[in-house]
Amino acid sequence: MGAEILTIGTELLLGQTIDTNAAYVAEQLAAAGIDVYWKTTVGDNEGRIGEALRQALSRSEIVIATGGLGPTEDDLTCRVIAAVLARPLVLDRTVLESIRRRFADRGLVMSKNNERQALIPEGATVLPNPRGTAPGLLIPARDGRMVVAMPGVPSEMQPMLTEQVIPRLRKRFEIGARIGSRILKTCGITESQLDEAIGDLARSSLNPTIALLAHPGEIHIRLTVKTKSHEEAERHLDGLEARLRERLGALLYGRDGERLEEVVGRLLLDAGQTVAVAESCTGGLVCHRLTNPSGSSAYVVRGEMVYSNRAKEDRLGVPHELIARHGAVSRAVAEAMASGMREAAGTDLALGITGIAGPGGGSAEKPVGLTYIAIASAEGVISREWRFLGDREINKLLASQAALDMVRRHLMSRRDATLA
Ligand code: ATP
Repeated sequence: MGAEILTIGTELLLGQTIDTNAAYVAEQLAAAGIDVYWKTTVGDNEGRIGEALRQALSRSEIVIATGGLGPTEDDLTCRVIAAVLARPLVLDRTVLESIRRRFADRGLVMSKNNERQALIPEGATVLPNPRGTAPGLLIPARDGRMVVAMPGVPSEMQPMLTEQVIPRLRKRFEIGARIGSRILKTCGITESQLDEAIGDLARSSLNPTIALLAHPGEIHIRLTVKTKSHEEAERHLDGLEARLRERLGALLYGRDGERLEEVVGRLLLDAGQTVAVAESCTGGLVCHRLTNPSGSSAYVVRGEMVYSNRAKEDRLGVPHELIARHGAVSRAVAEAMASGMREAAGTDLALGITGIAGPGGGSAEKPVGLTYIAIASAEGVISREWRFLGDREINKLLASQAALDMVRRHLMSRRDATLA
């Protein structure tokens, strides 16, 4: 039994929109134990959508289409499916009413062309779309095959796929085996060091399998297991995760969708600590990331973006002579920034970050990527020198990652010391 993904939209062929839907659908189908053998992308053209759909139905039992369900003239998906499957389009009054209600709730009058979205191929099952006007459709085709049409907007398509489409497909095609996966996230270790630390497990473990995925500033470990049930998958994944945790300890910071800033936020909350940030080369990125989790006002107090020497002096009280003697990018200045910020904000912790993001501004003595990060706390000031090798934006990201990880480790060591 095989599935085919059909993404529809001229913007995808022009490269203006990255086809994230295909990747998302593929990943979710794989996790549900549904094999995907083909992926096709086609523009908003009636003839070519028809051709792609006919071809997909000739070789796949399930065809999952996204896009082209909107109210405008170039939204052709529904019309083409009806033609290819020889099912007339009929007006679905429930769909029409829900679209009308959606407009009324926003204080708007429904335009005439939205009525087109209530025309659906006869015999189709309507999948409600609480996040938009275009409903999804499940349409039976010949020989027990199935066509699924979902809206193109990812935030509408994704929950529709996982909550409505996949459970129905698993039931309809009696899919037993499923694939479970888990991502463990590490920070502060390179891919080759990680391979050295867990390579033997990666090579010997076949179910679950282990794969390393490199991202800027962090390496993810993906565990994948094929089992009969969700519970069995979780058991296998828990067992392997425990072994990896034993090996990697504090290098593992989180799991699945968890972000470093969320982990840091939780540690700050648990410790009842507050934080302020003085940033130069990261331009506010650390503050931005620290305030990503909702509820971060419980621990983020203040940030200063001090790009110029003058701002470092005026806002944080960094002595002029210190900058003149060591340069703005130096350990001494990072430490003075952190201390000055802590005093000004009255927080438990304060960060000071200064570096050369590049591409200009480097020298033999102080190359692009050189960054100093300091943390001031009641126990004093700690600091570290970093040398990043990316371009400007990557260096900023890596510096923010290093700063957040330093806070994480600081809080973990304090917590561990208290527990001991
Ligand atoms: P709606 O009626 O809700 O607009 P639709 O089915 O008509 O849905 P499209 O008009 O095809 O969807 O696309 C709407 C938007 O969704 C596009 O502008 C694009 O930003 C996004 N989109 C569409 N297809 C994809 C895709 N394959 N991957 C990522 N984004 C997509």
